[in-house]
Amino acid sequence: MLKIVLLGAPGSGKGTQGAELATRYGVPQIATGDLLREAVAEDTELGHAAKAAMDAGELVSDETVIAMIRDRLTEPDAENGFILDGFPRSLAQAEELDSLLTELDRPLQRVIHLQVDTEEIVQRLTDRGRGDDTEETIRNRLAVFADQTEPLVEYYESRGLLTPVNASGTIEDIQARIVEAIEAA
Ligand code: AMP
Repeated sequence: MLKIVLLGAPGSGKGTQGAELATRYGVPQIATGDLLREAVAEDTELGHAAKAAMDAGELVSDETVIAMIRDRLTEPDAENGFILDGFPRSLAQAEELDSLLTELDRPLQRVIHLQVDTEEIVQRLTDRGRGDDTEETIRNRLAVFADQTEPLVEYYESRGLLTPVNASGTIEDIQARIVEAIEAA
């Protein structure tokens, strides 16, 4: 049973590391960015509402992502655990997650904070070349992270849930550090 949040700036490796952890521990990786991109691709009402914010590198409304996470976490495969990737991204989302997990009697076990320096992040995102990875959007996503998501570091630290992990280096090395952090918890 693994119930963790991967917290980190865009480009810190949450997606890559989350996928490896999902295989290793047999729990789903739940990435709000992926769920939103699916909704956009399927041209659903939710996708339509989210697209402009995503293209600009802004956060989609808390209400939208919280509803999406509530649906996803109550699916049967999340009963044995989950790896949250890219959620929560604001204090309101973190508080909603706490109450949802209390309601489900599945409290969070650990928050892994992936730390990489900004220059390496910009390089990684530029190399990745996703649709919303233009220089301007990257810069905005980093600003949004610093402004709205970084306060979560303190939020989870004060609850004794945060473990910082050095997220520079090879995928294997970083994975090993995360596994160590999880198993030590
Ligand atoms: P990501 O794949 O995590 O980089 O997310 C891509 C984009 O989806 C972000 O830049 C946001 O516009 C949106 N997004 C993903 N997760 C969230 C979230 N938890 N809250 C608000 N917006 C989100």
